[in-house]
Amino acid sequence: MTNPILSLRDIQRVYGKGEAEVRALDGVDLDVYQGEFVAIIGQSGSGKSTLMNILGCLDQPTSGKYLVNGSNVSELDSDELATLRRTTFGFIFQRYNLLTNISAAENVELPAIYAGMSADDRHDRAIELLDKLGLEGRGRHKPGQLSGGQQQRVAVARALINDGDIILADEPTGALDSGSSAELLTLLEELHNSGRTIVLITHDPKVADRADRVIEISDGKIIHDDGAKIPEEAHQSGLMSRRSPSLFTQISESVKMAFRSLRANLFRTALTLLGVVIGVAAVVAMLAIGEGSQRQVMARFESMGANLLFVRPGAPGTRMRGDAIATLTLEDVAALNELDNVIAAVPSRSSSSATLRVGNNDYQTSIEGVSELWPQAQTRGLKYGSFFTEKDVQDRVGVVVLGTTVAGNLFDDVAASVGEYVFLGGAPFEVAGILEEKGATSWGQDQDDVALIPITTGMMRVFGSTYLSSVSIAVDDTDIIAQTEESAKSLLLARHGTEDFQLRNTASILDSIEESQNAFSLLLGSVASISLLVGGIGVMNIMLVSVSERTREIGVRMATGARRSDIMIQFVVEALVVGGLGGIVGVSIGLGVCLILAEVGMSIFISALPAILAFSSALATGLIFGYLPARKASRLDPVAALASE
Ligand code: ADP
Ligand code: MG
Repeated sequence: MTNPILSLRDIQRVYGKGEAEVRALDGVDLDVYQGEFVAIIGQSGSGKSTLMNILGCLDQPTSGKYLVNGSNVSELDSDELATLRRTTFGFIFQRYNLLTNISAAENVELPAIYAGMSADDRHDRAIELLDKLGLEGRGRHKPGQLSGGQQQRVAVARALINDGDIILADEPTGALDSGSSAELLTLLEELHNSGRTIVLITHDPKVADRADRVIEISDGKIIHDDGAKIPEEAHQSGLMSRRSPSLFTQISESVKMAFRSLRANLFRTALTLLGVVIGVAAVVAMLAIGEGSQRQVMARFESMGANLLFVRPGAPGTRMRGDAIATLTLEDVAALNELDNVIAAVPSRSSSSATLRVGNNDYQTSIEGVSELWPQAQTRGLKYGSFFTEKDVQDRVGVVVLGTTVAGNLFDDVAASVGEYVFLGGAPFEVAGILEEKGATSWGQDQDDVALIPITTGMMRVFGSTYLSSVSIAVDDTDIIAQTEESAKSLLLARHGTEDFQLRNTASILDSIEESQNAFSLLLGSVASISLLVGGIGVMNIMLVSVSERTREIGVRMATGARRSDIMIQFVVEALVVGGLGGIVGVSIGLGVCLILAEVGMSIFISALPAILAFSSALATGLIFGYLPARKASRLDPVAALASE
């Protein structure tokens, strides 16, 4: 005597508790043998679907014993149940339960993906099955493009692809017209003739008549059973794939599915991405701007040399407003020049833009008033002529020293310009000399676009007042620059009676720049993190929506043999794809903004690190915020998921 392939003993299935308790199955005993064609009939609500879900291991009985091929289902964990579903059973549902985003052939392939069949094999097999079921050339159609009868045949092909022994069909003709119903029943008969075991659920006695054995169920109890007619020859399954797909297959399939479902909701996907995109683009662009401006300022101060001290008017901590504070005078400069270790203390005062004129040539530049010590402090020589003298400064003589850019714009022959006159505000200034060329700084400022006049002459004729905007002090021995700074400070304190000036050296200026740049970077970092956080919440939100929207899909996947981990991986991968896409688009936009700003003349420093960092955070955002929805999806109950709308 052969053993039954399915064996139920005293199965109870109770829904709800207390008052709301429903006893959907109440002590069912049933044996199904290999190769049988069984129809289960009963009124609506009699417990047929409940029984079928238990038979297909989508649901577990409240009590009783269920053996599949001799193994006790209640002792299997969820992965083993998934394996059993995809190797032993093929499901056909009343509502077809095809995934609408993917083609007919891909629907058929689904259980084979979870069974680890190679892409070529499963595609060939899907097409072969579709051909056999009269769907030649329909493999590429989406379910929506097929009739009900055709969709149900796609579902049959899906039930067959893993070559499971048992086909479970729950009201498969329920949604079909009579012609399609008849075709489907013939198909089931053929499958039965080829040796498969078929359990068909229906409320229609005419449909049940096609089966060899009819079982009637009412109020959760079997009230009639024709009894088993054990066939001599049973179906030998050709291909029992008990393998699991490799992680690579799993992930590449998930990535494919992710793109599909994201494409199916393009607008929503775009909105979700926006948060991540803005966050990433902000990080990339802001860091490049921050780094660029830091490098620019650093380069400016480094080019000044390490032996300079600067004095500016205004109490420490106040904003430097240059000549608006009338505390720094030429007498201060004279006293500073008397200090030890001081090579030259040079006063400075600049005009905003002024017009220089020679004949009909006009040139706009900024005029700087300095003392005769300027070349010493700046260590810059002359190309032609000489710098103005101490006497020129004392006597407020109208002389000017020009950079080559200025001279080139005013004179046809720069070499012959020494001794010529330049008009500034109607007054003639004799050209004393032309400065050595120095070229542009690393941040693009032309150091030859200068016009220097004696500070005293400037105070009288150009600036209109007698105080200074800064004093730069060149020291001899930089090792004792701190002491020199101290003595300069006490000197000015003694002269002013109050600390109404600021004294810095190049090193301390660099330090404070770095400090403020770091604070700036921290600020940028927090802004960026917040936008990524917001982006992440967007991702989570959309994934949660996606999970509840696709509950049915998840149910179908579980029914066709997906394990919890398969579902989990799929949703995590989807979130990662969202994060990754957001990252790529964000990095591109960020770099684009940088290039535009650089084109406009802003100093930008683009490096790989912020881009990589931002992209990784986008991925991490996807992962972290995708995890919860993915877990929710993987914990869904297959029966409840399938029943959802
Ligand atoms: P059939 O498929 O024969 O129409 P079902 O197996 O779907 O019947 O349902 C049997 C009984 O169990 C019905 O009374 C139904 O209301 C109840 N039932 C089915 N599923 C649930 C559920 N998830 N929660 C509560 N009651 C349920
Ligand atoms: Mg039902």
